[in-house]
Amino acid sequence: MSNSPTRILILGGGFAGLYAAMQLEKTLAREPGVEVTLVNRENFFLFTPLLHEVAASDLDLTTIVNPVRKMLKRVNFFAGEVESIDLSGKRVVVSHGFDHHHHSLEYDHLVIGLGSITNFYSLPGLEARALTMKSLGDAMTLRNHLIAHLEEADSECCGVKHPLLAFVVAGGGFAGVETVAGLNDFVRDALPSYPHLNETMLRIVLVHPGAVILPELGEKLGVYAQKKLAERGVDIRVNTKVEGVSERGVKLSDGTMIETNTLVWTAGTSPNPLLQGLECKKERGRLAVNEYLEVADWPGVWALGD
Ligand SMILES: Cc1cc2nc3c(=O)[nH]c(=O)nc-3n(C[C@H](O)[C@H](O)[C@H](O)COP(=O)(O)OP(=O)(O)OC[C@H]3O[C@@H](n4cnc5c(N)ncnc54)[C@H](O)[C@@H]3O)c2cc1C
Repeated sequence: MSNSPTRILILGGGFAGLYAAMQLEKTLAREPGVEVTLVNRENFFLFTPLLHEVAASDLDLTTIVNPVRKMLKRVNFFAGEVESIDLSGKRVVVSHGFDHHHHSLEYDHLVIGLGSITNFYSLPGLEARALTMKSLGDAMTLRNHLIAHLEEADSECCGVKHPLLAFVVAGGGFAGVETVAGLNDFVRDALPSYPHLNETMLRIVLVHPGAVILPELGEKLGVYAQKKLAERGVDIRVNTKVEGVSERGVKLSDGTMIETNTLVWTAGTSPNPLLQGLECKKERGRLAVNEYLEVADWPGVWALGD
């Protein structure tokens, strides 16, 4: 009988991968014959539902990140980039270090939790001009962007203020709604510090392609959230899509052009590109799994999360 341990490899340290690792930390990782390893790009877990609070300066960034190494004692952690997955060969190539050198990690069981990426659907100008809201860096960028725009609009030599004070968020899911709410509160609360600005100059718009925002929560809560946001001054455009963004502003599918410097895009995601090359069954690019989250026709391979 072989003495080599059973190797469980988890890819991705978001909600899916990290919680799988934490569960195994309490169970299988205690077994001497089992070796569990988590691979993630960052060495911290990011609590995305509070990302907007960092963008809105309500929370310090250290309050929404948690170091993975502190959370896992029995599970090994590898900080690096997953480069490729070879299901037939049961190995994953990862890179790390300043020179991005490669390692091959072999496994007996694989858990794939690599999340999704932003999809701009090739809409004109988006990739170059839109801000995104997925990482800690995105939240800091948005925060600095908002402050820079308030400062610029307040300056006495600022000629045309309204594009600087119009902020468009695309996407009425969790990310977009939380972002527009945080952004709205932030700029309104900041106004007393800017003597040349007032509420009537602000324009904060949420653009959503469906009839009601927050489709994840059902119509009743979506309508309630819409009412609350509208009461706080957010202009909500339902059944509307962003068609493109240029130096003039954001063009909407109803023909409106909103003159603005700011578009935050949360309206599209697509599966992690690493999944594209995997020779297994997929549904709309996502891995098809059974009721145990096991990937169809690949025993020992599981997939979870976005
Ligand atoms: C701003 C915002 C607010 C949200 N609010 C809510 C909410 O209130 N409620 C709710 O239910 N959902 C919310 N969501 C959605 C929620 O965050 C996602 O559904 C969830 O994060 C998905 O978890 P996941 O583990 O599948 O993917 P992710 O959290 O995206 O984790 C994937 C991990 O894999 C890593 N990774 C990816 N590719 C590689 C690679 N090649 N190499 C190494 N590592 C890699 C990433 O760095 C990341 O750590 C929100 C999302 C955002 C962006």
